[in-house]
Amino acid sequence: MPADFDTIVNLAKKRGFVFQSSEIYGGLRSAYDYGPLGTALLRNVKDQWWRSMVQMRDDIVGIDSAVLQSPEVWVASGHVASFSDPLVECRNCHNRHRLDKLDDPDVCPSCGKRDEFTEPKLFNLMFKTHMGPVETDDNAVYLRPETAQGIFINFENVRRTARMTLPFGIAQIGKSFRNEITPGQFVFRTREFEQMEMEFFCRPDDADEWFTYWLEERKNWYLGLGMTPDNLRLRPHGKDELSHYSANTSDVEYRFPWGWDELEGIANRTDFDLKAHADRSGKDLTYFDQPNNDRFFPYVIEPAAGATRTTFAFLIDAYDEETVNDETRVVMRLDPRLAPVQVAVLPLSKKAELIEVSASLANELRKTFAVEHDITQAIGRRYRRQDEIGTPYCVTVDFDSLDDHQVTVRDRDSMTQDRISIDQVEAYLRERLR
Ligand code: ATP
Repeated sequence: MPADFDTIVNLAKKRGFVFQSSEIYGGLRSAYDYGPLGTALLRNVKDQWWRSMVQMRDDIVGIDSAVLQSPEVWVASGHVASFSDPLVECRNCHNRHRLDKLDDPDVCPSCGKRDEFTEPKLFNLMFKTHMGPVETDDNAVYLRPETAQGIFINFENVRRTARMTLPFGIAQIGKSFRNEITPGQFVFRTREFEQMEMEFFCRPDDADEWFTYWLEERKNWYLGLGMTPDNLRLRPHGKDELSHYSANTSDVEYRFPWGWDELEGIANRTDFDLKAHADRSGKDLTYFDQPNNDRFFPYVIEPAAGATRTTFAFLIDAYDEETVNDETRVVMRLDPRLAPVQVAVLPLSKKAELIEVSASLANELRKTFAVEHDITQAIGRRYRRQDEIGTPYCVTVDFDSLDDHQVTVRDRDSMTQDRISIDQVEAYLRERLR
């Protein structure tokens, strides 16, 4: 039972997943800070992506390119000329909107007035700043609006040094910045966000096959991490929707509380980017295919996902409520690989002899798992908190533990409890937490 929007936003704030940025100064709109649990969850999402895209494959390598790049990059890529959205302003309430996202292009969603919009103006989404102490047009630079271009401009460096032959991919995770006209829906659309992008280079005649391959692969990544199949779909773009560089695009969409919306775009970018950078830089970015004895610009299949947006979707999807003993139990059914805390170690009371045992067990388990040693509040409240943040296992140390050297392990989903010898706890959890 995925959560409704307000429930999940409130829980995210209450439990310290996400805070409004600059909250003590009244908040900076559309910027968010990730708290201890949110940071762990976001990290786990990125780690799982990296694991499946880089670590588990011998045909993809990773890079980490600079946020600031030569302005030439963004001229060549087409971002300076055309990375813009159509902006309209309401003459009545002066709110600005993105025309292509309006339900009714004649009605202002802020004040409800009809036919009050100004003519649409194309608004470039790149953030501009200056490099060095003087602010002139000559030293203007952009904050990258996507991580992909950092990959294209390093294509030859990576191919040569990592000795890659086609087909191969280059992956990157990092921050991107877009001066969105209408940020919103919490962390779904923000002006600073994180992306997980991979550019897969292949022979032009193999591109269609790889495109289909990556659609399946990417969809299965979300499902493999427990996303509800009914809330996930692939949606092919119509011809009028395609970006200037794309021959074919499908989005992985999630059924958010407000409807279907994009988690990831998978595009056949053809040879657009490598050609554009070769043209502008004058460098040879073609590939020589030894077995076939031919030279060409590789085609590129790009799965481009949002790390922060995906993290939000996993939170929504994991939310569940059930009635237990006439009370509502809120439980976040996160996959154990994503859960910010994997094991909570809970002494039944604050008695020193119990804490001695629980602290020592927690320290031992920390070597392998993400552990929280929680000694405050009544045990029932501590269970409730761990359920709400999605902790798969709680290990309780009680007074009997002092004599029988056993503890109780409680399973988040089934709430069944097993009595396990302390020296077996790690093996027990290892088996279940993979
Ligand atoms: P939209 O149409 O929603 O503006 P897009 O199609 O421009 O998005 P892409 O350029 O394909 O997005 O970016 C790839 C992914 O990066 C998106 O699927 C999304 O997950 C993430 N992303 C893009 N813009 C934002 C944003 N402003 N905030 C959070 N995540 C974003």
